[in-house]
Amino acid sequence: MTTENIETRAELQNLHQEFPTVFEKSKAGRSCLKPPDDSLFDPSEMTGMLRESPAQLPEISEVDLVRHFIGLSNRNFGVDNGLYPLGSCTMKYNPKINDVTSNLPGFTDLHPYQDAEDCQGSLQLMFELERMLSKIFGMAAFTLQPAAGAHGEFTGLLIIKKYLASIGQGNRNEMIIPDSAHGTNPASAVMAGFKTVETKSNERGLVDLKALKTHLSEKTAGIMMTNPNTLGLFEEDVLNIAELVHNAGGQLYYDGANANAIAEIARPGDMGFDVLHLNLHKTFSTPHGGGGPGAGPVGVKKHLVQFLPNPRIVVREDGLFDRTDNPDSIGRMKMFYGNFLVLVRAYTYIRMLGASGVRRMSEIAVLNANYLRTKISKFLDVPYNRTCMHEFVASGENFAKETGCHTLDIAKTLLDYRVHPPTIYFPLIVKEAIMVEPTETENRETLDHFVEVLKTIVERAKIDPDWLHGAPHFTPVRRLDDVLAARQPNVKYSSHNTPMCE
Ligand SMILES: *Cc1c(COP(=O)(O)O)cnc(C)c1O
Repeated sequence: MTTENIETRAELQNLHQEFPTVFEKSKAGRSCLKPPDDSLFDPSEMTGMLRESPAQLPEISEVDLVRHFIGLSNRNFGVDNGLYPLGSCTMKYNPKINDVTSNLPGFTDLHPYQDAEDCQGSLQLMFELERMLSKIFGMAAFTLQPAAGAHGEFTGLLIIKKYLASIGQGNRNEMIIPDSAHGTNPASAVMAGFKTVETKSNERGLVDLKALKTHLSEKTAGIMMTNPNTLGLFEEDVLNIAELVHNAGGQLYYDGANANAIAEIARPGDMGFDVLHLNLHKTFSTPHGGGGPGAGPVGVKKHLVQFLPNPRIVVREDGLFDRTDNPDSIGRMKMFYGNFLVLVRAYTYIRMLGASGVRRMSEIAVLNANYLRTKISKFLDVPYNRTCMHEFVASGENFAKETGCHTLDIAKTLLDYRVHPPTIYFPLIVKEAIMVEPTETENRETLDHFVEVLKTIVERAKIDPDWLHGAPHFTPVRRLDDVLAARQPNVKYSSHNTPMCE
């Protein structure tokens, strides 16, 4: 794709032009709705309740309002308008049927304090979802309460802590975490009161058994593993690792945020894990990315069931569903039942796919990742270049030496091509990392387009590195100060620009 092409497209979509706010578009007297004729009703009779000056709302017609918001959404990236290969995030397409079911009034109009008799359907849905997840992942039981992956980690670690205390092993306070782990793992471990011990990966990108052995002691509370790990590689020694850690008296925690590679193929429960969390908002197709809501259910083996958060959903003797509190529980982790409508979406997704569909989801996710890995490794280094799971990590290290352009420059240039960049600079153990996760919902043409664009950018860097350094050229904003944008985001519209206030 040539520069003129992207320039024309940017022009057509007004991408690099000022986009007035809805307040700036306001013209006195315009409105979406005409208020009813009030000749029979005089609001001034309601003394003391009338505002002194009109509310500062934009005055705009319905059609202009629709165009305004559609125009804004066109300038955004989302799975609904293109590939979103953000590694470790599973930005798969979320089927619209999920929205239909989660908007059913029987679910949305229910109050969580309603008697169990009045909300049998919702209790049944959660009960069945817990059972389905237990089956898929080989665990005895699940709680659906945690609101995110990190929240699930915290919950799971509190369960391990309480369990260890209950068997007189409360002095075990060290949590082993591989150097490739997601940043939330050490953060959750510290929050749960553990000391973190980092264990190194070997030259194949896997947990090094020798290094691991040196960390095991009577202080070991457990290990937190991601499998496939964040390099997208399956931990081949997982059974040995489980045996070593269990023999040392520790518990095994599984970070199942991205379960897209293993669902209905391999079960963490069978690998020896005692606790795991899932991200329903990744693997089980609920939208995420704007800060929630999400769901991070936690599954446990039999010896830990009594510690799960309250309330638990049970079937009474008379066959009705009910909730109950368990005296050994770690307590409540979230109000009510967690983010219930996210659970409805995940339930819908699993029921729609069935066991064979869930398996096919995993198979295609792995196939797509390997397809991209094979093609991309022809022009970018892939340090651990062998069959991967649902994602893989390329490195821009040599590319940077050759061209003076960095992974960040590639990511920014992708924006000019209207392609969402992959995850960059994570995992930390790969220099100039580019972490690609296509997911199963992308077809071959979309994957080929991504490869073509990436290749064009890499080639261009060799003859015109400044083009990359200056990217993005055609987006509403250019290079932002990442740190400032995250720490002090300026997202407030200042009203003295508003024509209405003149
Ligand atoms: C996304 C992710 C998490 C954290 O999940 P949140 O819902 O963002 O808290 C943890 N571990 C891994 C491997 C992840 O990809």
